Amino acid sequence: MNIQAELISIGNELLSGRTLNTHGRDLGNTLGLIGIDLMRDTTIPDDIPTIALVVGEALTRVDLVFVSGGLGPTVDDITRDALAKLLDLKVVLDQPTVDYLKKWYAEHGRNITLAATRQAQVLEGAVVLPNAVGAAPGQRIGFPDGKTLFVLPGPPAEFNSILSGHIIPWLRKTFANARPRLVRVVRTKGIGESDIVTILEAADFHAAGVDIGFYPGKGKVEIRLIADADDKARIADAEQKLLALLADYLDLESD
Ligand code: ATP
Ligand code: MG
Repeated sequence: MNIQAELISIGNELLSGRTLNTHGRDLGNTLGLIGIDLMRDTTIPDDIPTIALVVGEALTRVDLVFVSGGLGPTVDDITRDALAKLLDLKVVLDQPTVDYLKKWYAEHGRNITLAATRQAQVLEGAVVLPNAVGAAPGQRIGFPDGKTLFVLPGPPAEFNSILSGHIIPWLRKTFANARPRLVRVVRTKGIGESDIVTILEAADFHAAGVDIGFYPGKGKVEIRLIADADDKARIADAEQKLLALLADYLDLESD
């Protein structure tokens, strides 16, 4: 079974619709490329009991939990306090981050305030993941049972920079055997989803160990087959079967 991950995005603005939550898309894509499955994408408000509850539950389910948002200097940035409570860890000041923040604020023509220094607070024992494009760093916390919690800032540029700069290289090393799932895409036109399903009724792709998904749009349907990295023959068989059954409706132009 592939390594499994969950994402928990924290922020009232994500729930109110003021901000489009892009982290699920970015994380799902990035993890998929290295053979890790994103299993859930949960969005919750800036509320300490909710954060502690939801992160605690995710840690019982999967190997890797990603938490984003609420690491800034303002009073609604409460993620580290909620995690400290959940994990019974102290919040400590990370001196290299204080030094980095002093420089960062000076470069931006500002003086560092006490509130800004809050961004250098991390959970005791966390590996600090420096933020090359913003202020608050990311954090990696390992547990004795082998699970890992990643804590990341909310702004997408910062989230993605820490993900690609620190987390993906670490995951590649730690889960060196993980391999991305195999994907085959077949596109049809001139036939609706329900008619496709009728044609495919006899072919049980799931029983053959291949997942099948249907993605309709503008008179066309994209069909995606997904199988484990080892199942090359299975996915090739499934693709051949699909192409044969839908031969009259293949959309060979769009790619
Ligand atoms: P900051 O130091 O900027 O306050 P932070 O870690 O405290 O960072 P938040 O305060 O939760 O993060 O969010 C900062 C901004 O990042 C939000 O205003 C929002 O625009 C954006 N943001 C946060 N989470 C997401 C997300 N999941 N998807 C897209 N944008 C997000
Ligand atoms: Mg904030």
